[in-house]
Amino acid sequence: MPIRLARVSERPPSVDTLARVVAADSTLPFALVVRCARLAVAGSGNYEAEARDLARGLERSLIQPVVNATGVLLHTNLGRAPIGAGFFGFEGAVRATSLEFDLSAGSRGSRQTAVATLLAELTGAEDAIVVNNNAAAVLLVLAALAAGRDVAVSRGESVEIGGGFRIPEVLEQSGARLVDVGTTNKTRASDYEKAIAKRGNDVALILRVHPSNFHIEGFTQQPGLAEVANLGVPVVSDIGSGLLDARCPWIDGPPPQWLHGEPATRQVIADGASIVTFSGDKLMGGPQCGIIAGRADLVAACRAHPLMRALRPGGQTLIALQRILLSFAAKTACTEIPFWAMATSSLDSLRVRAEKVLGTVATSLGARIVDTVALPGAGSTPGAAIPSVAIAVDGDHTARLRNLAVPVIARRDGSMTLLDLRSVATDDDSIIVDSLNSLATA
Ligand SMILES: *Cc1c(COP(=O)(O)O)cnc(C)c1O
Repeated sequence: MPIRLARVSERPPSVDTLARVVAADSTLPFALVVRCARLAVAGSGNYEAEARDLARGLERSLIQPVVNATGVLLHTNLGRAPIGAGFFGFEGAVRATSLEFDLSAGSRGSRQTAVATLLAELTGAEDAIVVNNNAAAVLLVLAALAAGRDVAVSRGESVEIGGGFRIPEVLEQSGARLVDVGTTNKTRASDYEKAIAKRGNDVALILRVHPSNFHIEGFTQQPGLAEVANLGVPVVSDIGSGLLDARCPWIDGPPPQWLHGEPATRQVIADGASIVTFSGDKLMGGPQCGIIAGRADLVAACRAHPLMRALRPGGQTLIALQRILLSFAAKTACTEIPFWAMATSSLDSLRVRAEKVLGTVATSLGARIVDTVALPGAGSTPGAAIPSVAIAVDGDHTARLRNLAVPVIARRDGSMTLLDLRSVATDDDSIIVDSLNSLATA
């Protein structure tokens, strides 16, 4: 009999009763709490605790703002370039936009006209188009310019970049045929020449791919772009990270050290590339998109391809990209584009911020300022490092910081937790202070 009684006491509550209890301290719409309650009741454990866990798990799975204190500025898991919602629209009330309306002519226009002009001004390209991301840019270029034909790629550049972007597979999807050139560690201009001669007129393009996220050392060689640009076949250069101009005319003074060796659109075009492809949310510091810039006739062929309609970006993306490009043109990038503001802020200003943070956190925490190395991230020059400053606390507090109402994503370094201030917007320093104080009181 006692067993029977125990069973009765464990009988699940009604879904509705449980949902009401859990909904009292959940921000989720009631229908979603009911969903969690239903799943919990179907389980066999502690129904209320389980329903709360499910509701919290769902709440935490929603995309939400976090503070990136990792020191990796373009963090692939944290949305790459840090641009806020303000970039994606206009101030004031919601209004219609001139997205596809030519205000001069009073008739239908193209959503890409203005960004193409801005990109031409900033890079020296004759024309440009924007698609959903750089993977889409490479796919479209290959499909529009080389479907059914051969594309010459150095074996050292037939690589995988990021999750699932593999050059041989993208080539296959485009309908173009991969022609391997040279070897993994050494490829010469003469290797391209031989491959082209052997294939007659079938080689439509030479594709160069920047090794964004790895570095081969030792007995290696790849020809310069200029050497392969005069072989009679258009060269497509996938530079990836999208630095617009190696001279960084939007910066006062010389280009920063951490950009050294990073390929830039203007110079790659000047060296003879017919088409350059890159991401909008890497070193440009803009929204997720991919850009195809270069020779007018080749860009036009991409624009006319049926895939263009499927790969085009939304209006909000173009509004954000336009803002970013205008900032570069006005040379205000280092104050207006969050990535550039973070990447170029002086060590002194970071130290001043760190002192201020330390001055407001509980001394019992034992927090201190340490010199660190921040990274541009997101496939910019591997190994590039930007001197930085972090708040260090003994112990691993990464999970606790991550679980705060405004999650702070910190970095563990040995037995310390580091909050690197270079990847934190100055406006968020108060969140850093609150998060540290929550460690002190917990
Ligand atoms: C990042 C990168 C890509 C992929 O770009 P997405 O915008 O993530 O699609 C492709 N090629 C290179 C060289 C890259 O660095």
